Amino acid sequence: MRIYLDHNATTPLREEVQEAMLRALRDRFGNPSSTHAEGAAARAALERARAQVAVLVGCEPSEVLFTAGASEANSTALYGVLPQVPADKRHIVTSTVEHPSVDEPLAALERQGWRITRVPVDGEGLLAPEAVLAALTPQTALVSLLWANNETGVVQPLEQIAPLLRERGVLFHTDATQRLGKQPVAFHRLPADLLSASAHKLNGPKGIGMLALRKGVSFEPWLRGGPQERRRRGGTENVVGAIGFGVACELAKPDLEARAQAIARLRDRLWEGLATKVPCVRRNGSARYLLPNTLNVEFAGVAGEALQQALDLAGVAVSTGAACASGSLQPSHVLLALGRSPAQARASLRFSLGWGVSDAQIDQVLALLPDLVARVREASAE
Ligand code: PMP
Repeated sequence: MRIYLDHNATTPLREEVQEAMLRALRDRFGNPSSTHAEGAAARAALERARAQVAVLVGCEPSEVLFTAGASEANSTALYGVLPQVPADKRHIVTSTVEHPSVDEPLAALERQGWRITRVPVDGEGLLAPEAVLAALTPQTALVSLLWANNETGVVQPLEQIAPLLRERGVLFHTDATQRLGKQPVAFHRLPADLLSASAHKLNGPKGIGMLALRKGVSFEPWLRGGPQERRRRGGTENVVGAIGFGVACELAKPDLEARAQAIARLRDRLWEGLATKVPCVRRNGSARYLLPNTLNVEFAGVAGEALQQALDLAGVAVSTGAACASGSLQPSHVLLALGRSPAQARASLRFSLGWGVSDAQIDQVLALLPDLVARVREASAE
């Protein structure tokens, strides 16, 4: 039996999600825009899913816009609000530890003449609220910050930052993809204007995500071509995907805190075992402001890729960083932003736990790791 510790890359489908999707594939094939009974049934299922997502996000159903994932939600957020910005307010504040789906659109905007300020994080990967405020200028149109980091699991103090941005009248977008389903999200209470998330990070299907768009925010569609999603995203809706997302959100809500505590206990056991059994290891990122499921560890002197592959051969799936960056020899920009050297960044592995991970599996990983690390260290030193 394989042991899957890469839940920040993606998660397995919960059985209830799979069953709801299979039923919908058969019975909810109608086009939600059609005015006959089949269309109406698909529309009702889509709207039910929207309401389920809205409950977990803490917004109104009418503020939920379904997208093909968080990457699309991030681009939809940025390219949806920025065309409304007057030419003399073309300044955006972000951080040095963003996901590429925010980083790259911002870099493209920079090439088109927008000014982008990337606020650095400290050695624990945390943003100081004062540093974000200090980066604001009268020209700042938007602040976009990742809530929980996909590589380190570090959670930014957005509850402190967001109200200050609202006071100053600056639009605020957060990529909450890694947070949703792991820790509470309250869109309006935060408060945020735009928030992105993706179903496949919380035991839902791939290819469906959402953007919460606060009522009253001036927005134009990025994906044009139809009246769908209240004219905010053209294209026939992914009804089956949305149904899966809705069920995943409904399952995540009731015991969120208890599940978070149980996963954090397993994660802490993994770290304590590692720290006692494997020499020269250290954690990357804050151990306090952290997702309950994530552990990023530097194994000094190890080639991270080699250790990841050795673990894979032994039946354990982990990652050297972001799934999309795995397989590239580039050191993680997130770990470099924490002040790690390229060699230290390359010697780091991400363990991300989730649904289905057991004490027995953590024991097995702890039994395997000391030998594997020693072997890879020897090979790396040759
Ligand atoms: N943002 C973050 C923080 C992520 O971890 C991911 C997934 N790697 C994305 C955005 C992109 O999500 P999707 O795969 O749904 O496009």
